[in-house]
Formats: sequence, C-alpha cells, structure tokens
Amino acid sequence: MGTERIYPWQQHDWQRLQQLRERLPHAMLFHGVQGIGKVAFAERFAASLLCEQPLADGHACGACDSCGWFGQYAHPDYRRVRPDALETEATDDVEADDGGTKKSTKAPSKDIRIEQVRALAAFMNVSTHRAGQRVVLLYPAEALNSASANALLKTLEEPPPETIFLLVTDRIDRLLPTILSRCRKYPLTAPDLPDALAWLNAHGVTHAERWLAEFGGAPLAALEAAQGGDSAERDELLAFLASPHATAALVVAERLQKVALAQLVAWQQRWLYDLLSLKLSGRVRYFPHQQQALARLAARVTAERLQQAARDAESRRAVADHPLSARLFIEQMLIEYSHHFS
Ligand SMILES: [Zn+2]
Repeated sequence: MGTERIYPWQQHDWQRLQQLRERLPHAMLFHGVQGIGKVAFAERFAASLLCEQPLADGHACGACDSCGWFGQYAHPDYRRVRPDALETEATDDVEADDGGTKKSTKAPSKDIRIEQVRALAAFMNVSTHRAGQRVVLLYPAEALNSASANALLKTLEEPPPETIFLLVTDRIDRLLPTILSRCRKYPLTAPDLPDALAWLNAHGVTHAERWLAEFGGAPLAALEAAQGGDSAERDELLAFLASPHATAALVVAERLQKVALAQLVAWQQRWLYDLLSLKLSGRVRYFPHQQQALARLAARVTAERLQQAARDAESRRAVADHPLSARLFIEQMLIEYSHHFS
C-alpha cells in the first residue's frame, strides 16, 4: 500500500463517500479534471470495500489477507478494466528508447475492448470468493468504444448481485447518456492552488508554480511532467516554439525523436492555446513564465492563422500513434509552425 492513502485534497470527498456505504449504488462514476488522483481515489475505495476489517474512517486496514491480495492486484473479487495501452506502457518506453524506431506492428489498443467487458461475465457468474463485495474498476471510462459501452450497459441494466462498478473519467462529456444514467455520479475535487503547491513542494518539485500552471492546476500531471525524463526535450521544443526558424527545424527534430509524438503535439497544443488566448483575451494559461515570448509571437500572427495551426495540431495528434517516420513527423510539425510566423 502506498504511503498516501488518499491525497490531501480528497479528504472531504472521502468523508462524503462514507455516507453512501449503507446503501451503495451498483455503479459509481468518479469524475473530475485530469491529474488530480481520481483513479487512486477509486482504488482506495475498492480496497476498502474488499477489506475484511476497515478502519473507523472507512479506509482499508492494509493488514488483512484481502488487503494483501489487493496490493498485488491479485484479489479474486477484484478486476481492473483498462485499455491494453495502459497495461503495456512500460514496454512502450523501452521501444521508444531504441533510437526512436518504434515498432508499429503491435500497437496496443487505446480502447476498452468489448472482449474485456465480456470477460467480466465469467468473473461475475461465480459467487464471491470472500463472501463479500465484488469490485470492478474501469478507467478511463471515455475509452469505452460503442461496442464495449453497449456491452457494459447491458451489465449495468441487470446488475449482478454483490457487485459494484467503479468507473473513472475526466471526460464525462464523452460518455453515453445511457451509461451516465446508470451510474451514481461522484465529482472529485481538484486541489486549490496553495494545497497543490504545498504538495508539489513536499515532493521536491522546483518551479512548482510553473508546472502547475502548465498542467491546469492538476498536481499529479505536474509532478509526472516535472519528474519525467523529457524535461530537456520539452525545454528544447518550447525554445523552438518561442523563436521559430524553419532552418532550425531539422536539428531540433533530431533531438526530439525520443519523446512520444503525442506528447510533443500536446506541448505544442498548449502553446498554441496560450498564443490564441493571449491574442483574444490577453490571458495566458499554461506558460505564464513565457508571457513575453508569447506576446512577441502573438503580435506577428492573425487569430485566424492560429486557429488554423490549432486545427493542424489536432489532426496531427490523431495520427501521432502511427507515423511513418517519427523524425519526418516532427520536422513537418515544426516547419509548418514556423511558417505561420514568417
Ligand atoms: Zn484490510
């Protein structure tokens, strides 16, 4: 079990949740912005539902057999359903390090597949092993495609006994209304700025305010990025975006090859968001410490062109998982961007 049972900003959410224990719904949907610890929260709740001797505050004891199995993802009455891409992330990183030559043969699915939902039937058809609850944690719920969503819907319409579904999403707007109507919606709180900063500082993050701004106030996303190995590459990309020259694109693209393409596009998308926002409303959201560079650039380009650049980035993100060549992909991305300012 982790040292942090739940995050400091989730205390109130946790207490509220305890009131539901008497009459648990058979499906709950935890939702809120990205990077605030929703999955961790739902996992703590799952552990507490399966725990044989929960503590007075509702937390799992961390000491019983059930908690032991849970900690190793080996509890017979617990299933996690998530896209294959999340299961194989570690392998992906290794491949990406291999000179940037990503294997395109077996890209793991980013959807929750119908087979995964169907596989739950066998799990739910036997009585629970520990004569208690059975818990299914499914995330991110927006990864359900129409086939798997419909399969899940059938299950939610005829809920199996002693089973509780915990769904987690940061895109509640993408879920089918029929799924939403079958779940008890449970919003999770994002920390306020002082709490988020205190937590990041406690984790040794320098420039915590910058990271937090860039990740929209979401501390987990900020921590991951701050600790991520890509921060030199990120700075390199930002330097190019701040002072774009088509002639530098080839050199920069070469240095950025190790970074996941979707990540590069995401950085660029935030940058473009700030440029447009600065132009339209005078405000910067993600890169406040780059305000001067952003202002210089914004003065050199029309809002229409920035909107076009944002659309280009959007379509680029859609193909970022299957590029023919990572290097070409990055070169084109940088050159196209620089043309908006020439
Ligand atoms: Zn326990």
